[in-house]
Amino acid sequence: MTELEKGIKDEDSSLQMENTYIPELPDGSEEGDFLALDLGGTNFRVLYLQLKCGKIVVEHVKKYHISDELRVGCGNKLFDYLAECVSNFIHSEGIADKKLPLGFSFSFPMHQRSLDVGILRQWTKSFAATSVEGKDAVQMLREAMQRRGHNNIDVVAILNDSTGTLMQGAAMDKRTRIGLILGTGSNACYVERADKVYHWESERHGEKEVVIDTEWGAYGDNGVIDFVKTDFDRQVDENSLFTNSFTFEKYIGGKYLGENVRVILAHLTKQKLIFGGNISKKLLIPNSFNSSFVSLIELDTVTNSIVETEKILDMFDLTYTNDDIAVVKLVCEMVSLRAAVLVSVCLSELLKHMNKDDVTIAVDGSLYKCHPRLKSWMEKFITLLAPDHTFHLLLAEDGSGKGAAFTAAIAARLRHRSMG
Ligand code: BGC
Ligand code: MG
Repeated sequence: MTELEKGIKDEDSSLQMENTYIPELPDGSEEGDFLALDLGGTNFRVLYLQLKCGKIVVEHVKKYHISDELRVGCGNKLFDYLAECVSNFIHSEGIADKKLPLGFSFSFPMHQRSLDVGILRQWTKSFAATSVEGKDAVQMLREAMQRRGHNNIDVVAILNDSTGTLMQGAAMDKRTRIGLILGTGSNACYVERADKVYHWESERHGEKEVVIDTEWGAYGDNGVIDFVKTDFDRQVDENSLFTNSFTFEKYIGGKYLGENVRVILAHLTKQKLIFGGNISKKLLIPNSFNSSFVSLIELDTVTNSIVETEKILDMFDLTYTNDDIAVVKLVCEMVSLRAAVLVSVCLSELLKHMNKDDVTIAVDGSLYKCHPRLKSWMEKFITLLAPDHTFHLLLAEDGSGKGAAFTAAIAARLRHRSMG
């Protein structure tokens, strides 16, 4: 049995296949005013959205910086800060007295008990605040808001960014059945038949379908894809905040692609194969090579230029020849290509598992948006790997913000329905 099937049957698997308890996608009837929070990327964002007939008609967004101190400090302080930002936002918008439902995009692996209970299983990416793992992020948010005296905000749903992207994609294109994030981290979710899902902790209401969050970032944490692991991957893992976990994410996530390139370049330099064997201090610093550099160097390759590559190598205080530039480009291509292949393999398996035709895959994330060739490679590889399933990739920007509002609207609709 595959990891995917085991996960869905609630058996031991590195694929969590978490039930999100979202039983339907936007249908064009979503209405009302909503708050949305987005935690998981570079900034924390607070949004105020008005929906009319399933369309976003008003959208106000404010970004708040989260310091490293907060990211890895005390968990309660982190949530107090989130509540402080919400407070600042609703006051500046003049909506502090309004009763508003809120959708919380919390882009980390959760154990969900219902649409509004999300227990953090483990931090990923660059977050590591204490005393949050094992706790319900919704409850922590509610308590932090209460500490600030905000009692009229109603947290109705928690979701992650891939789910938000699926929702936002579905609002744009009815054929959307998969949500994909290729950003700092990576994840995918899809619409599953409810009768195939074993794990339900809340009362059933005759759901026919439900969104499943694969949490594929952790794919391979049990060793099942160790055959792709190289010594370079071992180094990337050692230099990460969470060793021995999030195996798959370290092959494909924006947080790690640049680091993959850096360890390879450092190795080649030490072997005296490039840069005349002279390594720079900067190239030796773990995680100093951003994935945005990989995208820029790839851009040079696509446009047959060397301008960006030179700028980046200068920034790293390296002296180089044209041959060195060619090698650097090749390394970026190889690392990117491997990511494209791995993502495509998993998407093809999802398409085959769903066995539906004409599926739109909604995608968001900085890596996907900035990398010049990822999309076309993925189209090519998925077509080769799942030749019987037509699909297309749809950019669904800001799924984590907009999708949270749609999910809150659906949560409100479900509540209304269950009350008769
Ligand atoms: C998290 C996922 C999230 C993904 C993309 C991963 O590290 O575990 O929940 O969807 O990053 O942000
Ligand atoms: Mg499971």
